[in-house]
Amino acid sequence: LLGADGRPRATIFAEMSALATATGSVNLGQGFPDVDGPPSVARAAADAILAGHNQYPPGPGIPELRQAVAEHQERHYGLTPDPDTEVLVTAGATEALAATVLALVGPGDEVLTLEPFYDAYAAVVALAGATHTTAPLRATPDGFRLDADALAAAFTDRTRLVVLNTPHNPTGAVLTPDELAVVARLALAHDALVVTDEVYEHLTLAGPDGARARHVPIATLPGMAARTLTISSAGKTLSFTGWKVGWVTGPEALVTAVRTVKQFLTYVNGAPFQPAVAAALRSDEVARWVTALADSLSRRRDLLCEGLRAAGFTVVPPQGTYFVLADAAPLGHADGAELCRELPRLCGVVGVPVSAFTQPGSAADDALRSWVRFTFVKRDDVLADAVTRLARLGG
Ligand code: PMP
Ligand code: GLN
Repeated sequence: LLGADGRPRATIFAEMSALATATGSVNLGQGFPDVDGPPSVARAAADAILAGHNQYPPGPGIPELRQAVAEHQERHYGLTPDPDTEVLVTAGATEALAATVLALVGPGDEVLTLEPFYDAYAAVVALAGATHTTAPLRATPDGFRLDADALAAAFTDRTRLVVLNTPHNPTGAVLTPDELAVVARLALAHDALVVTDEVYEHLTLAGPDGARARHVPIATLPGMAARTLTISSAGKTLSFTGWKVGWVTGPEALVTAVRTVKQFLTYVNGAPFQPAVAAALRSDEVARWVTALADSLSRRRDLLCEGLRAAGFTVVPPQGTYFVLADAAPLGHADGAELCRELPRLCGVVGVPVSAFTQPGSAADDALRSWVRFTFVKRDDVLADAVTRLARLGG
């Protein structure tokens, strides 16, 4: 949790957003939408405040939201968690992850993630005193893909937990059923538990054939429901990232362990947001809004990818999330972190170096040294402005 100079370190997202503000740059770093979610959902939260939903909600979350989450899992994936014992509401996916890792592992245990990985995973594994091991995703003409041999080699008899993430931040990979089957087979063989971070579950994008990628939860694979905790949240799906309402679903014994830790992290959160999110998860109108968001993201992805290519980057288009990874090596920049510090001066755009999502010195760190992550969950005019600015880089 300390930087190379031994001082407390801000997250890369906070650092890069501050840089964007200080330099007046277009902020394509931290992933948050510049347009809020459905007004009807915002109104429901405001109504909940006025109706008096302002004191501590129940520890596991309000029954209405746990029921809505259970119905959501059944409607989309055929999973049937018991809302009373197998669903826990958390302060965003972030707390769900922290409570899960703290509940399930400790010193001597290994936690295996894909690499690159969302930065919070490394931090909570360190807080738990466990060891973080990784298996690389590799850039291919088909997007970033799992290396099955490297994954198999990364498992040891100490691998207690696999933290999976699909759709994947930062690569935008949506893991295929075949890739998930490899993870499942290895988790079963090594008797490891799986935590899967699915916050971008609804933000899958159109492929070359026009059809959107299909998100498959690993809990739906044979034998996996009994050893998997599935995490999601309202932040990305509803474009209310500041509300911090998340949830974890899975077998009762595991959810109970997570709840036991969670009660001493935040106890509860988001009293007026919980009924609003519950209603949103049940609303057909909101479901149509989310589909429209995903469709617009496909278009915005294409806009940014085209702009990045025109500026001279090599781009691997994502199948999900609202991030794209771009290699700056063809532009003569070997170090993405250095480039990200320079980008505001060079062209007035902020991105996030992929090295923020890798372990120093790892194979993935080496392979992705010159790569930068950009978000495209911005208005069209903001993206167009960013593309114009990026064009200055090559010239
Ligand atoms: N997991 C991933 C992969 C993310 O990108 C994020 C960032 N939103 C989170 C978890 C955190 O989600 P929340 O805001 O719900 O805590
Ligand atoms: N998940 C967001 C991202 O990857 C940022 C969340 C945060 O600032 N911690 O950009």
